[in-house]
Amino acid sequence: MRVYISIDMEGVAGVVHADQCRRGADDYPAACALMTGEADAAAKGAFDAGAEVVLINDSHGDMRNLDLGRLDPRVEVLSGSLKRFSMAEGLDGGGFDLALFIGYHAGAGTQRAILDHTYRSTVAYAVRVNGRPINEAALNALVAGAAGTPVGLVSGDETTCAQCRALLGEVDTVAVKSAVGRLAARSLHPERARAQIRAAAAKAVRERYRFRPFHIDPPYSLEIDTVTTAMADAGALMPGALRSGDRTLRFDAGDVQTLFRALLALLRLAGTGV
Ligand SMILES: [Zn+2]
Repeated sequence: MRVYISIDMEGVAGVVHADQCRRGADDYPAACALMTGEADAAAKGAFDAGAEVVLINDSHGDMRNLDLGRLDPRVEVLSGSLKRFSMAEGLDGGGFDLALFIGYHAGAGTQRAILDHTYRSTVAYAVRVNGRPINEAALNALVAGAAGTPVGLVSGDETTCAQCRALLGEVDTVAVKSAVGRLAARSLHPERARAQIRAAAAKAVRERYRFRPFHIDPPYSLEIDTVTTAMADAGALMPGALRSGDRTLRFDAGDVQTLFRALLALLRLAGTGV
């Protein structure tokens, strides 16, 4: 049995500020250790439940945050970037029985959610699919779902957990902190967060038949509201992109992989428009 873990940083217990999440900042090494601890806890939970293969995708920033020597030696790790499917790299090819999203955060424009954003906080003011606001967990779940893999567990702050239950339907969640604003939270101690993640991962893997691959009916209409009009100007250079509003880019796609790759490409291109 094969389990996939995508680990982000903003939703890890104790992380509340972008300085903790940025290479070079004083706080960053400590946050990497917290992130590594939660990734390891999820992996151990999956192994507790009988997983034979656990692949951990380092899904934050430059994707070289995990301290590999402190992970369970049975895991495999996907690190570095660029990856065509980014936080969901490898899920696109199928072959996993269950995916676990650990350390996740809420979508751009969500209040009382630590470091809310959708893939590029400085570029995307909001992202919608078929008119509905969406977050990274749901976008990555779409990639997994298209290849037949369900998502069984999401961890992050309380708001993120509630948002993921609303978007994904049947999914287990572990809230490791409760945000009092975008940059402040009341958090569990890392050891308690890890214990809860390990137990929840084991339960989700053991009960994996409860979860269904996440789908949104095609065709897809992706909309990105950019922070500035210059970003929309730049994003609109991409063939197939439509300028559907002063600060809104639209891209229509018939399949999930095209939708996802258009999202990443548009955000990157729009980011050049400053
Ligand atoms: Zn991140």
